[in-house]
This record gives sequence, structure tokens and C-alpha cells, in this order.
Amino acid sequence: MPKQFKKSTDKNKRQKFAFKSPKGMHDILPDDQFYWERLSKYGKDVAEFYGYHKIETPILEDAEVFLKTLGEESDVVEKEMFFVKGGGKDKYVLRPEGTAPVARAFIEYGMSHRPQPVKLWYSGPMFRKEQPQAGRFRQFHQIGFEIIGGSIDPIYDAQIILASFHILEQAKIKNLVINVNSIGCRICRPHYRKKLIEYYKKNERDLCVDCKRRLKTNPLRLLDCKNANCAPLKVKAPSLLDNICVSCSSHLKLVLEYLDELSLPYVLNPHLVRGLDYYSKTVFEIFTDQSPLALASGGRYDYLLETMGSRPTPGTGSAIGMERVIELMRATHNASAKSSKEKVFFVYLGDLAKKKVLKLIEEFRRTNIITQESFGKDLIKRQMMLADKSGAQLALILGQREVFEETIIIRDLKSGVQETIPITKVVDVVKKRLQ
Ligand SMILES: [Zn+2]
Ligand SMILES: [Zn+2]
Repeated sequence: MPKQFKKSTDKNKRQKFAFKSPKGMHDILPDDQFYWERLSKYGKDVAEFYGYHKIETPILEDAEVFLKTLGEESDVVEKEMFFVKGGGKDKYVLRPEGTAPVARAFIEYGMSHRPQPVKLWYSGPMFRKEQPQAGRFRQFHQIGFEIIGGSIDPIYDAQIILASFHILEQAKIKNLVINVNSIGCRICRPHYRKKLIEYYKKNERDLCVDCKRRLKTNPLRLLDCKNANCAPLKVKAPSLLDNICVSCSSHLKLVLEYLDELSLPYVLNPHLVRGLDYYSKTVFEIFTDQSPLALASGGRYDYLLETMGSRPTPGTGSAIGMERVIELMRATHNASAKSSKEKVFFVYLGDLAKKKVLKLIEEFRRTNIITQESFGKDLIKRQMMLADKSGAQLALILGQREVFEETIIIRDLKSGVQETIPITKVVDVVKKRLQ
């Protein structure tokens, strides 16, 4: 379990306080907000630069949105969806992924009448009833990009990969490698599927229980099995790359040429398949050598919208797993760079001074300067200690004498140098000092 999510193991405390966040779901605590804000900003910057428009879909969706599109045999549909009671006749689920809801919105709001393709992005929580483990949570967050409509052009796949790649690069994740594959189309995949079944039938005895079942329902997933018995078998399995049709292989070739043009690091991985049914042609995952889990993933989904009742509309998309990226960011990001805003710390003595400070804070609110105080601590010495720890550059000290004389002391917390100034000038003087 990642460090940031470790909980107190003090047994005595546990017994007194039994409430916990739901299994596999985590609070994002104040200390971690820095990373979340940073990563969100990288996502927003990249989206804006490349002309993606933000979309927000509800956390709940009609269950059919996913049941119809992700595939009956996908792990998500089989066992990972959170159904929500209370929708009357309607069956709702907590969204397990972002693409199908965006496709639903595309159709519902007639976005096919806009200039094509439509470039959209989103950011938010997704929910899957998985067994919690490192990098896998029941509530997790994604930043996603979709390009929907227009023609089936491999350049959009390259653009989608590029957007995710740039965010990871901005997050200073090192040694990134894009795994790319094509899982074929309606024409060529059935032939490949047949070949794959024939191959695995001969080796059925050695397969794990899951693969024995998948062989009947979703044989492509066998290429993806991590079971020690199944893994060696995929080495000799017929390769997707040798079996896709001309249209699919020339599409893939162009995707790779665009990635070359952009100097993006990639490898062809013929065993890469994605867990969801709606993908066709290009699929990809982005890895770093610092983590066994994909940081970003996605692919083309040319049949998804059709499955949802629209006329044929191609699409391609990707999503970044924010928790996984943040886990790596905390190793590389400079904690001292945490706050870029200037800060001052108020120290006071006596009730009258306390009142004055309350009002002074309001005067600073109109500036870009953040103020801190510790109204609960009456001892000046204690307040000064907190001021030193706070990271503020200046302490503003108000004692009984200063209140009486309508002055205030400005103390540079690094050098210890201080001066007394008229209280009416404090905002201007502080502004100048912090420049
Ligand atoms: Zn094909
Ligand atoms: Zn297996």
C-alpha cells in the first residue's frame, strides 16, 4: 500500500474510534493536496494547449451505458461495478470509467453536428469493486482525453498518446515507454480469434481457471494473463501483428510513424490487449521503470458509439491514473516548492490585539499575501515558534503597547531584524518587503 494511504495502527485508538473510509477508498489529506493540484494543473495546461474542451459527466450512469459497451466478459462488468439502489426502475452504477459516459454525452447532445472531430477531456473519480492492492483502488481518479468523430485517422491516436505522455513528462516521471499494439477490427479480429482458440485448445490442460473460461468467451484476454502457467504459452501464441488486416496494419504503421515524428519512446507489444470490449485497432499503455503498473492507457473505439445507438462514429481516447502518478511524484517533487505564495504570520498579546489581528487579516485579503495566525495560543513564545515553523517570511507582532500606540512590529523571520511601523501602513510595507 502506498505510503500516503497508510493509516494509524495504534490499537488503542482503533478501538475507541471505529469509523474508517470505505474499503479501497481514500481521503486526500491536506498534506497531499499539493500533488493533486499540481497534477490537475498539468492536465488542464495540456488540454488547453491542444484544444480539448472540458466535460463533466455525472458520477452515476444508467448501468446499461457500461453493460452494453464494456463487454459481458470484461472484469468490470462481471464483478467490479457498484450498483446504486434508489433509482426506482432505473439501474444506476457508479461510473467505472470515463469513456462510455463521454460517448453517451456526445450522442445525447448531438455533438456530431459540431465541427468534427470533437476533442474532449475530463478529470474525476471512477469506481471499481476490485480487491484493493498497490496502485489499485475502489475509488480512483483519472484525467482523460477523447477525440470523437471525423475520420478514422491514425494521427488522432498519436495526438491522444501525446497528451498523456506530456502530462507524465511534466510530472517528471522518468524513463517512460509507450507500449503499442493493434487488436484489429471487425473484419480481421474474428479470424485471429479463431486461430487463437485453436492454439490454446491444444494447451487447455495447462491454463488457469480464468483462462479456461475466457477461452470460451473472450480469448484475447488470454494474452494478458499474468498466471505463471499461462504466461509461457503466449510466447508461441499466434501474434496479433501477423494476423490483422491490411487496413489495420497500415493504420498501426502510421501511428508508429507519427510517434517517430514526435520522438516519443515506444515499443510494439504484440501481447497488449485491453480489458474492455469497445476497443479496436490501436491500444496503448504507458509505463515507467519505476512502477510495474501502467500510468496511462487507452485506445481506439470505432464501434463504441454505434453500440450505444448512434450512427457509426470513430473515436480514440486515453486516461491517466492519478494515484499511480502521484505516488511517483512524491519521490521527485521538491517539497520546499510546496507553496509559491508569500506568507506572513500574526503574533499578538492580549484580547485587544487579538481583535485587531482579526481585522488586519481582512485588509490583507485584498492582496495576494496569505496570512496565518494561531488564535488558540496566547503565549507569545509559543506563537513565535509556530511562526518560525510556518514557512512565513515575516511575523507581524502586535502587543499591548503597539495597540495603544497604533503601531505594529515587522520581524524578518530569517534574519531576526525587526522594526516598528504605523499600523495604517502595514499592508504597503509588507508588500514592499516581500517583493
Ligand atoms: Zn482489421
Ligand atoms: Zn491464465
